Amino acid sequence: MTHKKPFEIARETLKQLTARKLAPTPANYQAIYSEVAGVPVDPPFPAERLRDIAQALPTKTPGQQRQRGLLDSAIGQLNWDGVKNALMAYGGFSPPAEAPALPRFVASAPAPLEESPSPALSAPALTADFFEQIARMIEFALPALGTDDARFTEQTETLLAAMRQPGADVLAVKLMLGNFSHRLSFAAEDQAEIKGTLLKLLHLIIENIGELSLDDRWLQGQIEALLTASTPPLTLRRLDDVERRLKDVIFKQTEAKGRALEAQEDLRQMLATFIERLSQMTESTSTYHGQMEENARLIEQAKTMADIAPVLKDVVGATRTMAHDSLTARDELRGMREKVQTTEAELVKLHMELDRVSAQARHDPLTGALNRKGLDEALQREVSNVRRKDTPLCMALLDIDNFKKINDKSGHAAGDAALAHLATVAREVMRPQDTLARYGGEEFVILLPDTSLENGIEAMTRLQRELTKRFFLTGTEKILITFSAGVAQLAANESGPDAIRRADQAMYLAKRAGKNRVLGS
Ligand code: GH3
Ligand code: MG
Ligand code: MG
Repeated sequence: MTHKKPFEIARETLKQLTARKLAPTPANYQAIYSEVAGVPVDPPFPAERLRDIAQALPTKTPGQQRQRGLLDSAIGQLNWDGVKNALMAYGGFSPPAEAPALPRFVASAPAPLEESPSPALSAPALTADFFEQIARMIEFALPALGTDDARFTEQTETLLAAMRQPGADVLAVKLMLGNFSHRLSFAAEDQAEIKGTLLKLLHLIIENIGELSLDDRWLQGQIEALLTASTPPLTLRRLDDVERRLKDVIFKQTEAKGRALEAQEDLRQMLATFIERLSQMTESTSTYHGQMEENARLIEQAKTMADIAPVLKDVVGATRTMAHDSLTARDELRGMREKVQTTEAELVKLHMELDRVSAQARHDPLTGALNRKGLDEALQREVSNVRRKDTPLCMALLDIDNFKKINDKSGHAAGDAALAHLATVAREVMRPQDTLARYGGEEFVILLPDTSLENGIEAMTRLQRELTKRFFLTGTEKILITFSAGVAQLAANESGPDAIRRADQAMYLAKRAGKNRVLGS
C-alpha cells in the first residue's frame, strides 16, 4: 500500500491513462486508480446487467415501484450497498443493519412491500406466515414419528399452538423449537430402529414359513421372492408386493394344511377299523377251530347215532356263526373299501379345488411373475397413481422370439426353464418399483411407473442387452434368448388394458420388422 494523497493518486492515474493510451472510461480510470493506490482492483460495476435485472422486476404495486426507483438510483450511483438493500426489500427482507435482533412477528403476514411505508426498514423478518410454514412442516413430519411417545406428542402440540398464536413470543418459540429438535432426534432414531427390527422379524417369519413347506417347490420359490422383496430399500410398492405374496403363501399353506389333516384323519380311522376287524376275525376263527376240534373228538368217541346228533347240531351252529361272522367281516371290509374310494374321490376333488384356487392366486408358479389376475390388480393401482400424481406410466409387452424352436429342439422342460431364466434376468434389471407379469405363454408385461416412453424403450433395450450377456444354459448348451417388445406410455383418459393393447400392436410390428427389437407405440 502506498501513502499517496488522493489528488496525487488521481494525477498519477491520469498520467498512466495517457501513457498507456487507454480510453478515459470510468472502468479504466478505476482500474488504474486502484493500481496506483495499491488497493485491490474491484471488478467493474456491471451496471448494464443490473439494469436488465431491474427491468425484469415487477412494478405493479406502489411498494414495488418505490423499490424499483431506489434500485435504479443505486445502480446509477454504482452503489453496491444500495443495490443490495433495494433487492432485499424486494424479497421481503430487511437489510441486516436495520433488522431488530429478535423481532416479535407481525400477526397477519403482509405481502412484501405492499404495506410497508418504508420497506427497506420495516419488511418483517419473521412473519406469522413463516411460523405457519414451520408448523405445517412439523405436522407433515409427525406421522413418520409415530404416536408412542405421549410426552413428545404433547410437546409438539404445545409448540404448534405457540407458533400459531398471534404475536407469538419469538424467544419462547425458539427455546421450544430447540427442545423439540432435541427430542425429535431421539424419536426419529427410535422409528428407524423399530422399522429395522420389524423387518428382521418379518424375515424370521418368512424363513419359518419356508421351513414348514419343504415339499412344495412353488412355496419355496415364493418364500425366496418374499425374502428378496422385503430387503431394504423398502418402497410402498415393494411392501405391496410382499403383502400380495404373503397372502398367496398363507392361502396355500392353509389349504395344504386342511387337506393334509383331513387325509390323515381318514387314514387313522381306516387303520383303526381294520385292526379291530382283524382281531375279531382271528378270535372267531380260533373259537371256531377249537369248537371243531372238540366236535371231531366227540364224534370219534361216539358209539351211537344218538351221541352224534347233538354234536352235528353244534357243528352246524358253529359253522353258521362262522359264516355269519365272515359275512359281517366281508361287509365291513367292503364298507371300508368304499370309504377309501370316497376319500380318494374327495382328495381328487380337493386337488381340483386347489388348482382352481391357485388360479385365483396372483403369481405364476413357473416364473414367480404376477399372473393375469395379479397384473390386473397392479395395473389398476398404477393407473390410479398416475391420475393422482400426474406422472408418466409405461407398459412394455415382450414376446420371446422363436420360442417354439427352443421347445422343439431342447424339450418342453428346457422351454420352461428358459421362461424362468428370462423372468429372473428381467427382475434383476428392473427397478424395485417395476412390475413383471406373465401375460401369456411366452409373453410378459412390464409396468414401469414414473417412466416416459423414451426411458421405457431404453429400459427394454437394457434388458435385451443383459440377455445377450447372460446366456440361458440347458445342459451344456448355451441358448441366446431374444425378444421383440412394444412399449406404450399411458395416455390421458386411456385405460390400462388399452395401453397394453397398443404395446401389443407395437410388439407385433417389431416381429414384422425382423424380431429382436423394441418399438414404441
Ligand atoms: P415368434 O418369434 O413369432 O414369437 O415365434 P414363437 O415360436 O415364439 O411364437 P408362437 O406364439 O408361435 O409359439 C409360442 C410357443 O410357446 C407355443 C407354445 O407351445 C409355447 N409355450 C407357451 N407356454 C409355454 C410354457 O409354459 N412352457 C413351454 N415350454 N412352452 C410354452
Ligand atoms: Mg407369443
Ligand atoms: Mg414368441
